[in-house]
Amino acid sequence: MSKHHMEKLTCPSCHHDGDFEVWDSINTVLDPEMKEKVLNQSIFLYTCPNCGETFRLNYPILYHQMEDLVMIYLVPESEVEKTYEIFYEKNALADYRTEKYLNRIVTSANQLVEKIQIFDAGKDDRIMELVKLLATDSILKNNPDKEFDELRFAVDDGTNILIIINKGEITGAVDIDNMYEFASSHCTDFKDLRDDEDIVINRE
Ligand SMILES: [Zn+2]
Repeated sequence: MSKHHMEKLTCPSCHHDGDFEVWDSINTVLDPEMKEKVLNQSIFLYTCPNCGETFRLNYPILYHQMEDLVMIYLVPESEVEKTYEIFYEKNALADYRTEKYLNRIVTSANQLVEKIQIFDAGKDDRIMELVKLLATDSILKNNPDKEFDELRFAVDDGTNILIIINKGEITGAVDIDNMYEFASSHCTDFKDLRDDEDIVINRE
């Protein structure tokens, strides 16, 4: 089930006290409407009832897309190791392993959203990280002066793309279907996505 609780907070702008709904976990089968609120990240936004200003609050959450056996923990960097143990300590969520759960630990809301979109598109996030490296090479080959901080998976009108992000702004996009094919053809020795014990998948 989904779990949430109220937390008191004081508006940093007008100092009015208000209540903020914090989601500890979300189960998309029991609360399907919450998936969209994760994807648009509105669960991390607080609007002050007094002055109307909106603030972003980051907090840990367990996202459970039960219909697809996908479980993603969003935690701060300092909690990654502890969270890994929660997934893999023998007494913890052992049952989820035998059911071939696809488990991931991420450290930002953007990563959480990206993982959901990658898995919803039927893609492998391990291959996607390789595609990002290929795409980086290809972007810099065509335009050596291009500056960007990050490439992030997205689906635009049914097309799989990587959006190019520089200083928080989207500055372009690249089609990735060919690169994804190419990368997959070189990853035939990868373990099944759901059998892989590596559950922190990022560029490193
Ligand atoms: Zn306020």
